[in-house]
Amino acid sequence: MRLSSRKVLSLFKRSLAFNKPHHVQWMLTRRCNYRCKSCDVWRNQKPTAELSTEEVIAGLNVLRKMGVIEIVLSGGNPLLREDIGEIIEYASRYFITTIYDNGSQAVRKINALQKADFVAISLDTMNEKKYDYLKGVHGAWKNAVNAVQTLHTQGITVGVSPTISQLNMHEIMDFTDHFTERGIPVVYCLYQHDTLEQPMFQIGEKNKELEIMDNEALAKIWDALIEKKQKCQGILITRKMLNTLKGLYLNGQRPWECKALQSFFTIDPLGKVAGCHLQNPVTTVFDLPEVWNSQKFESLRKMYRECKSCSYMCYMFYSLHANVQGNIEIIRDQWKNAKIVLPTRRH
Ligand code: SF4
Ligand code: SF4
Repeated sequence: MRLSSRKVLSLFKRSLAFNKPHHVQWMLTRRCNYRCKSCDVWRNQKPTAELSTEEVIAGLNVLRKMGVIEIVLSGGNPLLREDIGEIIEYASRYFITTIYDNGSQAVRKINALQKADFVAISLDTMNEKKYDYLKGVHGAWKNAVNAVQTLHTQGITVGVSPTISQLNMHEIMDFTDHFTERGIPVVYCLYQHDTLEQPMFQIGEKNKELEIMDNEALAKIWDALIEKKQKCQGILITRKMLNTLKGLYLNGQRPWECKALQSFFTIDPLGKVAGCHLQNPVTTVFDLPEVWNSQKFESLRKMYRECKSCSYMCYMFYSLHANVQGNIEIIRDQWKNAKIVLPTRRH
């Protein structure tokens, strides 16, 4: 992560601004070269248009003026875009910029990734055969492990991002140990499938094999991670999230209000904006400033606050840690990890 003092100051100021959308997920493309069991993206890959480089940069300028702090570039596989280097370079000037890769592109696009603040490589298990099966691609495990190792060696801030499902949940603690002991942080995802019809961007495919069946065992994992967080660095999930997940899986408690279109929103490859990928688009990134304070958006926020249609971890996180207080909570919780996610850079 290259945090110049100018960027730190600007991020700090934005993080203290009330009622701003601090987190954005931009799904830059639907294209993907993998065939994951958990995912719907590759099943529906009609050739679709994407915003041009200039349009993405214009959109980033809009987000900057709106006070956004963090951008997650995903897809599909965003690294399949030819212009991804330019996009990362521009985004990272103003935002904490995270980019996801399935492990197939990171090494060949390593120059583009030099500017990213954080690169998350999907990897669910240390069992090669199982992982290739989950990804639907022979060699996926080797690609991912090689990508993590290569980027780490090159001084790029890289982490692994396992999607926890019934198939790998019992390995998660060993998996966590393996990487944190090597100074590589872990960012957790949880298998979910989309429940709303006609979402803006269909991602989570229903799959019985992956569905969590053993809620108590999962609650024990959240407990074990809470304990481990006290002893080691690199567990990139807050204690508040872990406790909330425990309550959700043990007792079905949902103590948070969804903050879609308030603390966060999503953008599709054409620049359409929705509260989350499961909701319908309501504007475009270019028109966003005009409608952000509108009555229409207030009504949508009210509706989303009452929505209980998903518990995708990223949206839960942005909702639980919304606004200024949420940003302070994240900093306090993750302070210990600053050393591994904010390494001293060579330039
Ligand atoms: S989960 Fe990611 S890598 Fe797998 S098919 Fe979907 S978009 Fe591609
Ligand atoms: S709970 Fe929030 S993030 Fe989930 S579907 Fe509803 S509006 Fe979207």
